[in-house]
Parts: sequence; C-alpha cells; structure tokens
Amino acid sequence: MRIVLVGPPGAGKGTQAAYLAKNLGIPHISTGDLFRANISQGTPLGRQAQEYMRAGQLVPDEVTIGMAADRMHAADAADGFLLDGFPRNLAQAEALDGILQADGVRLDAVLDLEVPEDEVVKRIAGRRMCRKDSSHIFHVIYNPPRAEGVCDACGGELYQREDDSEDTVRKRLEVYHRETEPIIDYYKAQDLVVTISALGKVAEVTERAMDALKNPAA
Ligand code: AMP
Repeated sequence: MRIVLVGPPGAGKGTQAAYLAKNLGIPHISTGDLFRANISQGTPLGRQAQEYMRAGQLVPDEVTIGMAADRMHAADAADGFLLDGFPRNLAQAEALDGILQADGVRLDAVLDLEVPEDEVVKRIAGRRMCRKDSSHIFHVIYNPPRAEGVCDACGGELYQREDDSEDTVRKRLEVYHRETEPIIDYYKAQDLVVTISALGKVAEVTERAMDALKNPAA
C-alpha cells in the first residue's frame, strides 16, 4: 500500500504512522525525521534545513522533494510506504504524482487526521521524543513514560523538540493552514481522502485508521 498521512502538527501523525506502518508491513517515511537525522549528523542537507525548521517554516521544495524521492526509491519501499509529513504543499503533491507516475504506481489512500486546534496545542506542549528512536513518542500527561525523561521502549533520553515551543507551534499551524490544507482538496478531487478523528487513546485511533484504510468508502 502507498499511503499519505496528513493532519496538523500534534495530530499524532508520527505516533500513528509508527503503528500503522508496522501493522501494514510498510516503511514509515517521515521527512521531519529525515531532516532531524541529517541535523544530528551535521550533514550539508541538515545545515540547509535547520534554520527553516527552527522558524517553523517549510524547508524549500528543491531540498525536500529530492530527499523524499531518494527515500521512496530505497529497496524496502518497493512495495509500499507510509508518508508522514510529505507532501506538505501543492508543489510537493504534484511532484509526488510525477514520481509515482514515472514508477508506474499510485497512491491507495490519503489518511486525514482531524483534531481541534486547542487539542493540538495541548498535545505539542507535552510531547517528548526519544533521542534513540523517533518513533518512540510520549506525552507528559496523555502518554507518560514510566520514568520521567526515559523512553519505556529503549531507555533512550526523552527530549522536547526545539520547534515545539509555543511561538513556533503557532507559526507551524499557520503554515499548515496556508500551505498544507489545500492538498486535502487536491486529493479529494482524486477520491483518495479518508478522514478520521484523531481524538481518543492512541490504540483507538490506530484501530479507527486501520478500519478506514480497509474500508475507504465506509
Ligand atoms: P514534522 O516532524 O513533520 O513536524 O516536521 C518538522 C519540520 O520539518 C517542519 O516544520 C518543516 O520545517 C520540516 N519539514 C518536514 N517535512 C517537510 C516537507 N515535506 N516540506 C518542507 N518542510 C518539511
């Protein structure tokens, strides 16, 4: 399956993507994770991306599209993938169509995670990420680790993302409404969008998402 996950920052895309990718047996491709890995390794691509991410802005398409295409063409993604955080604007959505068309494949679904804005702010303020594995995501109230600051799954150190500060979150939400939301209509025109509520327990949302993907017309 080839799936795109959309939703505002804090909708739980990263958390859900990790479970869904595992359930579906496809790799989870997160452009945000790829940028963060490049930043922590100090690569030229990481240096290019860093300032945009800090400011809550989109990294330029010339950088992002090439990076995403390379990852989609890795051997483990030959039979499908779950894209999280890409595409994030219409130019990227059109570029993705071009890449898929050239490869002779198509998207199966665009899963839209819906969550009210006040909930987004609460979720992001308490979000903590694992330094060792970006798919290990916690929340100080909604999904607290057993020991403060330590990942339950692997013992990695938990940290707060630099762009999860209140000012940057506001900027990221603005960018989401202006740049990313229009891709939902773009994909609606292709009859690909499945919308689910992202409210509730993590496992409940995963179940809702799996049902919706199995039965997109329901
Ligand atoms: P995320 O982890 O998906 O919330 O992404 C964190 C940040 O990485 C975003 O705020 C952007 O600065 C950058 N980023 C991630 N994906 C993209 C993308 N598809 N296009 C441009 N910038 C991106």
